Order: sequence, then structure tokens, then C-alpha cells
Amino acid sequence: AKADGEKGGYRFYTTSLNKQLEERFRLEQDLRQGLERNELVVFYQPRVHMGSGRILSLEALVRWNHPEFGLIPPGRFIPVAESTGLILGIGPVVLEKVCEQIHQWQRAGLTTVPVAINLSTQELYKKNLARNIASMVRAADIPPNMLEFEITESTAMRSMGEAITILTQLWEAGFSLSIDDFGTGYASMSYLSNLPVQGLKIDRSFVAQLNRESDSRRPGATIVKAMIGLGHNLDLGVIAEGVEHPAQQTFLLENGCHMGQGFLFSQPLPPSEMEPLLRIGAIWPQYHPAPSVIGT
Ligand code: C2E
Ligand code: MG
Ligand code: MG
Ligand code: MG
Repeated sequence: AKADGEKGGYRFYTTSLNKQLEERFRLEQDLRQGLERNELVVFYQPRVHMGSGRILSLEALVRWNHPEFGLIPPGRFIPVAESTGLILGIGPVVLEKVCEQIHQWQRAGLTTVPVAINLSTQELYKKNLARNIASMVRAADIPPNMLEFEITESTAMRSMGEAITILTQLWEAGFSLSIDDFGTGYASMSYLSNLPVQGLKIDRSFVAQLNRESDSRRPGATIVKAMIGLGHNLDLGVIAEGVEHPAQQTFLLENGCHMGQGFLFSQPLPPSEMEPLLRIGAIWPQYHPAPSVIGT
């Protein structure tokens, strides 16, 4: 299949089912091998207090550093890892790398902030998840309040009763929890209020509807306002995902959402590039240059 000369790896523009199955199979084999060869790398994206620019926490986002294709984003391999069970090998690797990274940053004298890790459906419902995570984190000598876990709304809804039990165990073990991609899973409000989570991340598809002029009467704006209100009424920390434009930042701040994550502040970065930002402890979008704090 390599002779096809397709760039970027595993993206196929053919409609042939056979070919797709073949590619998928190859991806699975390669991923298994990549896992053994330690080809997974973790990038970090800051979550910023949008009023002050302060970095509040980071989200860990896995990438696969493929020897032939270079960095492959998780959207290309996590779904396959989910359906093949390989995710159960990936999750612990990500957790271990994050713990090691926190230690490295601490050794470098950087004030470290909590790191959020994504858990997919298979991982959440795997037997003994909370116990396994807690013992790994204990072995790594990381205080659990340095870690947060994100699960999507649809993962939580897959089996709400079980999810509540597992999330409660994670919470009791000292970890923070957030609902990711909020608004995409059609969870009812009563369900949301039953989940033992502390944070809610507004999916970036909603943030994208806040247009640059940020007309607050547009339907997109109304929905985002309602989500912020819902989150706050449930006493949840509300984070906006995918903040790309200053007008979105302004709208969110004006409507009481102070935490944001997105390209306006920073792309997900490899640890070496994250370090200078952690040293400063804050990010100001280029559109709003901060007074001469940096570089003086
Ligand atoms: P997510 O958890 O919702 O992560 C946010 C995604 O939005 C990331 O994509 C991030 O790079 C992207 N993003 C952040 N800011 C912006 C922005 O301003 N504009 C746009 N257009 N995109 C933005 P990424 O890194 O490709 O990750 C995609 C998904 O893969 C994640 O969505 C998460 O569900 C999953 N994932 C990533 N790392 C892991 C992991 O370690 N384990 C598991 N199970 N899933 C992971
Ligand atoms: Mg996430
Ligand atoms: Mg998300
Ligand atoms: Mg997402």
C-alpha cells in the first residue's frame, strides 16, 4: 500500500471499501508497533484566564510521531485505537508521559499547573479504571490534584449510571473532572447535574458561531450564553474551546466565561515550546499586546 504514494498517511480518497479496510488494518498494525517503539508524543495546550492572560492549566493532547508520515493528529488514530482496543495501551502511556513531564517541569523550577488528560469511552468503562489510574499516579509520585480528566458528553451518556460511579471514584481519588465537547452529545440538563464533575468545556463548534462582530442576538451567541449560564448554575468551571478570534474572547468575557483555550492563545505545543510560556505564566494574544512585561 505504501507504493500508492499517498501523502500524510492513512488518508484515502478512494471509495473502495476494500482499500479502506486494508488501510485501517495497516494503521492498526503500525500503531501497535508505534506504541511498542514509543512513538507517541504528548503536546500541551494552555487554558488561559482570558481576563488576565494567566495560564491556569494545560490539556495533554497525544500525537503519533510516525517514522514515515511525521506527526499524525489523534483524530486520525484514536478512533481506530478505540475500536481495536489499542486505546487501552495508549491511555497509560499518555498518563505516564504527563506525570514524567510534570516532574521535569518541577525540576526545571517552573511553577506547574494542573494537566488535563482525555479519557475515551473504552477507557472510562474499563474495569478498575479509577483504581489503576490512582495507583499509577501514586507510583509516579504526582499529587492527584495536579491531574484532571476530561470525558465527552457522549462518553458519559453511554452508560450514565456507571459513569457516575466511575467518576465518583476518580473524584474521591482526588482528581478533577470535566465534561468535554459539551453541547454535542444532547445530554439532558438533569443528567448533567447528576454527574460529579467540576468543569464543562463548551465545544468549539459553538464558539465558532460567535462571529467576529460578536452580535449578541445571533442564535449562536444565544446558545453560548445559555451554556455559560447552565454551567455556572451547576457550579461548574466553564471553559470555552477553540477560541480563535479576539471578538470571541471579548464576547465570552462579557458573558461571564473567563477560561478559554484556543489558537488565539496558543496551539498545542511540544514540552520544549511550552516551557517558556510556563516560565512567564501567562499568554497575551498578539492582538492585545501586553504592557512590556515580557522581555524586560
Ligand atoms: P479535544 O479533547 O476536544 O481537544 C481539543 C482539540 O481542539 C485538539 O485537537 C486541539 O488541538 C484542538 N484545538 C484547540 N484549540 C483550537 C482552536 O482554536 N481551533 C481549532 N480549530 N482547534 C483547536 P487534537 O489535538 O487534534 O485532538 C483531537 C481529539 O483527540 C481531542 O479532542 C480528544 O478527544 C482526542 N485526544 C487527544 N489526545 C488524547 C489522548 O491522550 N487520549 C484520548 N483518549 N483522546 C485524545
Ligand atoms: Mg479534551
Ligand atoms: Mg474538547
Ligand atoms: Mg473536541
